[in-house]
Amino acid sequence: MLTGPEYVRQAGSRPERIGSEVVDGPAPFDCTRCGACCVNPLENEAVGFRTWVEVDDRAPILKRKDLVKKLVVIHSDGTKRMRLDQGGRCMALKGALGKKVGCAVYALRPHPCRRVQAGDSDCRKYRRERGITD
Ligand code: SF4
Ligand code: SF4
Repeated sequence: MLTGPEYVRQAGSRPERIGSEVVDGPAPFDCTRCGACCVNPLENEAVGFRTWVEVDDRAPILKRKDLVKKLVVIHSDGTKRMRLDQGGRCMALKGALGKKVGCAVYALRPHPCRRVQAGDSDCRKYRRERGITD
């Protein structure tokens, strides 16, 4: 069974490569034409969790007060997450999901954003959820 915060922490993830390159290998997904892992997963939504990517205390984005104000939610327990829009998309995600996307804070993106690798099992799951075909 999913436990919300733990699930969020483990799965809060983003590709290494969004905005820049096509990944080589058996599943050459182009992150610049996807963005699925920047959206709150359906499992999260189903259990009422409206938070996704964790922002750890050393994340470089926290040094930018302007970006924090716009893009980071600070919860009452002190944990921080990237702000989501009504549709569950990280508000730093620009463009059209499954067509052309980019991260507005790519150089400052939090560590979990670097965890999912294009073509891995999480990546494939997030893509399926969003109807982005292989
Ligand atoms: S779901 Fe996969 S292909 Fe899509 S942006 Fe994330 S890592 Fe890249
Ligand atoms: S900060 Fe960038 S890479 Fe991370 S979830 Fe948001 S849009 Fe995606």
